[in-house]
Amino acid sequence: MDFDLPEDAVAVQRLVRDFAAKEIEPYAADWSERAHFPAEVFRALGELGLMGMLVDEAYGGANAGFVSYVAAMEALGAADQSVASAWNAHSTIASLPLAAFGTEEQKQRWLVPLATGENIGAFGLTEPTAGSDAASIRTRARRDGDSWVINGTKMFISNAGTEMSLGVTVLAVTGDGEDGKKRYGTFFVPDGTPGYEKGQPLRKLGWHAMDTRELVFTDVRLPGDHLIGEEGNGLRQFLAVLDGGRISVAALGLSLAQASLDLALRHAADRQQFGRPLGGFQAVAHKLADMATEIEAARALVYRAAWLGDQGRPFSQEAAMAKLFASEVANRAASASVQIHGGYGYMRESAISRFYADAKILEIGEGTSEIQRNVIAKALLKRR
Ligand SMILES: Cc1cc2nc3c(=O)[nH]c(=O)nc-3n(C[C@H](O)[C@H](O)[C@H](O)COP(=O)(O)OP(=O)(O)OC[C@H]3O[C@@H](n4cnc5c(N)ncnc54)[C@H](O)[C@@H]3O)c2cc1C
Repeated sequence: MDFDLPEDAVAVQRLVRDFAAKEIEPYAADWSERAHFPAEVFRALGELGLMGMLVDEAYGGANAGFVSYVAAMEALGAADQSVASAWNAHSTIASLPLAAFGTEEQKQRWLVPLATGENIGAFGLTEPTAGSDAASIRTRARRDGDSWVINGTKMFISNAGTEMSLGVTVLAVTGDGEDGKKRYGTFFVPDGTPGYEKGQPLRKLGWHAMDTRELVFTDVRLPGDHLIGEEGNGLRQFLAVLDGGRISVAALGLSLAQASLDLALRHAADRQQFGRPLGGFQAVAHKLADMATEIEAARALVYRAAWLGDQGRPFSQEAAMAKLFASEVANRAASASVQIHGGYGYMRESAISRFYADAKILEIGEGTSEIQRNVIAKALLKRR
């Protein structure tokens, strides 16, 4: 057993930490207040080779693997969760369907600009009437000669409305199979396609600097070569890349929990009440100890799922466990850290107030905690 991070993961983490200290941390509060998406940061991440960490070198990526990706996310997410959440959606659910199922021509056309950081990617699954129940989506793709015609609405989609958006990969129903089951397809809809409209940025509890919108597709006509992978397999394809997405959200949660602890430790050492630092009170010290213990347990789960993924071994259940635990630890840690900060932690200029607001979505996005528990329980019962 070796619990040390490999050298390349340590190196990439250091690179991201140094970059984030200079280019993200000093500005994150301002971006959040103004709900400003910092495109220049993502272009710079592209120049550092960090926009395609899970994509092959042949398509402009780094092929660094999940362990290095998690190490990078720990540094990025501790600096700012809005930037890290946009990077999460871009690196996993937006890029991986193209990387796993795209043709050579589709990869050159769309994956390369995503992996090099020229553009940012988006994936649209969720709809106003279909969230956890992904199979119930209503967006339809109808074949018309050599084309596909898409109609429907996607909800809460990340990264689709920024100045560097390339388009959106969407899941749509393509018809009904002979067994009565719906068939699904995945389609790339480039920005500027007639009939593809974006709503105004949605106002959120947290992740203010991350772009989130409703997308509407009205008779959107796409050439046949915009279908990614096989017609009929769209939902299976999405579920296949979702495990990687869950490792990524788990790492986002880990980074938020660690940042919350670091801020709490600093405040507990600096702030004096009753003539001593807050950390001198056992009630406060025990909170710090509980946070640190839970964070180490989350870290072990997240890196284990990442390591399994890198070994090419099954990791669905482990990714669900990591996402479930790390996102709940993140919420507990952020709440405990605000408590230790007292009233100062409730003020918007405090960094912890931003992490606290950013924490809740981690228990909701890319499969809620309830859905993760369903996935884990199903795997356990199947094995029996
Ligand atoms: C900021 C933000 C960004 C997002 N980005 C994207 C994106 O880029 N692309 C995308 O496709 N989607 C995106 N989403 C959507 C996100 O993945 C969904 O919000 C999430 O999957 C939950 O779906 P829902 O909101 O419709 O909730 P629902 O599915 O309606 O769930 C509501 C509640 O019911 C519970 N519930 C539902 N079914 C069950 C069940 N079977 N058993 C137990 N409990 C259940 C849920 O756990 C939850 O607590 C984003 C959402 C947000 C808020």
